[in-house]
Amino acid sequence: MRELSLDALLVSSPENVRYLTGFTGSNGLAIVTRAEAYFLTDSRYTLQSAQEVRACRRFITARPLSEEAAARKLLKGCASAGFEAHELPYAQALALRKAFPRVHMRATTEIVERLGLVKDRDEIASIARAAAIADEVFRDILPTIAPGVTELDIAAEISWLNRKHGGERDAFDVIVASGVRGSLPHARPSKKKVKKGELVTLDFGSVVDGYCSDLTRTVGVGRIPRALRHAYEAVKEAQAEAIAAVRGGMKASALDAVARASLHRRRLGKYFIHSLGHGLGLRIHEHPRISALSNEVLTVGSVITIEPGVYIPGLGGVRIEDDVEICDGRCRLLTHAPRELLVRGA
Ligand code: ZN
Ligand code: ZN
Repeated sequence: MRELSLDALLVSSPENVRYLTGFTGSNGLAIVTRAEAYFLTDSRYTLQSAQEVRACRRFITARPLSEEAAARKLLKGCASAGFEAHELPYAQALALRKAFPRVHMRATTEIVERLGLVKDRDEIASIARAAAIADEVFRDILPTIAPGVTELDIAAEISWLNRKHGGERDAFDVIVASGVRGSLPHARPSKKKVKKGELVTLDFGSVVDGYCSDLTRTVGVGRIPRALRHAYEAVKEAQAEAIAAVRGGMKASALDAVARASLHRRRLGKYFIHSLGHGLGLRIHEHPRISALSNEVLTVGSVITIEPGVYIPGLGGVRIEDDVEICDGRCRLLTHAPRELLVRGA
């Protein structure tokens, strides 16, 4: 707080409230001053917050949380306080300013997110468990992928399998893209039926203790055209090179460059139209961003995805994504689903 020249920080985003206090509900406000930590929520969460919230003075209220904080003078003696500009709706920021007219309210960005960059053992164990569930879902979804099945059916089955294997929820809306739709990196599943000769890209994740996993596999149905097989092998090779290159202390942009150079060598670089990966934690997309434009450095103890892809308009797409823990030496893979091209009904 001293480093940030703030007397207090008001944390309202559910993931950050959870990170700081342990509270898993939807309506919570954490206030951290130089001397104290407070937590406020409404009466729906009286019991839950008593069980979950640690190391904070706790207040339950029927009023808006910022009003309650003002009435209890929780920012007494604070000249300045930061709020989460990237998370807080404008109307709520105005309400905060109104509740604390004498406190200089300063917009801050991603302070708690940066604290969460390096995961502890328990956090990594949760992500690893979510990753293991994703592996199980992939294994179990394979028999469903056959000519005539719609992308929506496959997506629904993935969500169901995730719950069946112990996932709390989908980490994000499941992506299923078959045939030419595979050239859309974030295609929503549609009523389109899978056909022979197509690649099908599946991108999904599980959640354990609030922590996300993120897995993409591309599988074939029937005889796959040579150009798509070539694209698959190129993406697999680019990903393997990137996974082998990951090191703590490395620039994120340098890691992105490893995969990009690999695909360029196979004349597919222009079809790799997104960044190589992202951090993973309570949110599906966290720091560090693994892109050509990123200024970040990879830190030992962060978990990231490595997900090169190739998207050829009119033909189809390939993406392969795994989750890794950044270590001093070689990274540790958390997802283990097979990476070779699996072809159904060949
Ligand atoms: Zn993904
Ligand atoms: Zn991802």
